[in-house]
Order: sequence, then structure tokens, then C-alpha cells
Amino acid sequence: MAEFLTVDIWRGGAEGQLQRFTVPRSDNQTVLDVVTHVQKVLEPSLAYRFACRVGMCGSCAMMVNGKARWTCRTHVKKVAADGRLILEPLANLPRIRDLVADLAPFFDKWRAAGGQFRPQAGLGDDFAIVPPSGAARRQADEAIECIGCAVCYASCDVVAGQPDYLGPAALNRAWTLMNDGRDGAQEERLKAVSGAGGCQNCHTQQGCRDACPKGLNPTRSIAGLKRMSLKALIEGRL
Ligand code: SF4
Repeated sequence: MAEFLTVDIWRGGAEGQLQRFTVPRSDNQTVLDVVTHVQKVLEPSLAYRFACRVGMCGSCAMMVNGKARWTCRTHVKKVAADGRLILEPLANLPRIRDLVADLAPFFDKWRAAGGQFRPQAGLGDDFAIVPPSGAARRQADEAIECIGCAVCYASCDVVAGQPDYLGPAALNRAWTLMNDGRDGAQEERLKAVSGAGGCQNCHTQQGCRDACPKGLNPTRSIAGLKRMSLKALIEGRL
């Protein structure tokens, strides 16, 4: 194993260039460790995001040698056997500065897809009972584990070619709510995910599933929305 890593990091916003750093290599080093070393020791003005460092928050996601990844749980030895790293902000999003992408368009699409829970119950009502064994609950159980890291969004070829596409994470979120019996905005959300930029734009290429660090399958959630959408169309509700 080489003693040092050669690390090229994007500097600037939409306009910018890669800047090269040499970083000492160590056992079990993560890509986030590398970025932190650069910022703490070599270039204090480097901008990047992180929070939990343990795979809970998703805020450290960036492009690592051309692939979107969460960096706190990506070991250097797995992605840079030759000792070279190229780090850039997440693809398919505007670049703010250095490794920081603007996530506003990503979360705007969650909103556009009806990603907010709208309760049917009022303040005085009893707690809803949601049996874990219920069919709707089970088919959306996995999808609810999404941490909003945008790795799938940065990995989606449809998003890259069609900027109004809502994208895998927003549609995955909509799917969880379409299976939530407590929610009161089902028809409205179904219209939102069935229109322009909605679920029918997914090409089922599974790039989101392959990239998701939580092992989720947004393509499956989107397929569920497509079925719901088609049923509603046949029934004249769309
Ligand atoms: Fe991240 Fe996976 Fe959620 Fe996409 S579906 S935002 S990759 S956790």
C-alpha cells in the first residue's frame, strides 16, 4: 500500500477546477477522513458538509471517482486501490462551493411530489393503530428508511437528462405516504406523481437501487406508484 493518496478536489462553484492534495494513507481510512484531513491540515477554506459521521444523516454524500457515495462509510481501500481519489460535489445539482452542492432542487421535488404527511386525524383523536403486519405497511416499510442523502438523485440518468423529473427519492417518499393509512392527501399526491415529471418517466434502469447506501430500492417504490397511477386512470380518478 502506498504511503500517500493523491486527491483531486473540486474547488469553486459552477466554474472551478480540481486542486491536487497529497494525503497520508492509513488503515480503515474513510473518504470523509481524507476530506477532513485536507480541510484541517492543508486547506482550511475547503467547504464540505458532514454531520453524524456514522451513516445516519447522509449529509456527507459527494462524487467519489465519478460515483455518488456517502463518504463517512466509504473506505478508501475499497474505492481507490491505486491511491487516487477525485472528489466533486453531487451530480445533477447546482454547485455552491467546493464539495457543497445545492440541495434545494432536490427537496423542492419532495414537496412537489406531495412528500409531506397530511394527517386525517384531529388533535383530539386517539392515536392511530398501524399493525406492522398490514399489507400496505409491509410494502412501504423498507422505503421509509430513506435518509435523504440524494445519492440516488445524483446517480439517476433520467434526472440528468430531464431536469423536471421528480427523481427516485421524492417518488420513494411519496410511495411511503401512499401506503400510510393515516394520511389524508392520497388523491392529491397521486395526481402530483402522475403528472409531468412524475413516476411514468422512470426508465427502470435501477441506477438508484445500485447506488443507495441504505440498500433501498426506489425503482420498486416507483413501480408501485405506476400501478396506482394506472389504476386511478382506468377508474377515471386522474
Ligand atoms: Fe439516499 Fe437511498 Fe434515500 Fe436515495 S433512497 S436519498 S440513495 S437513502
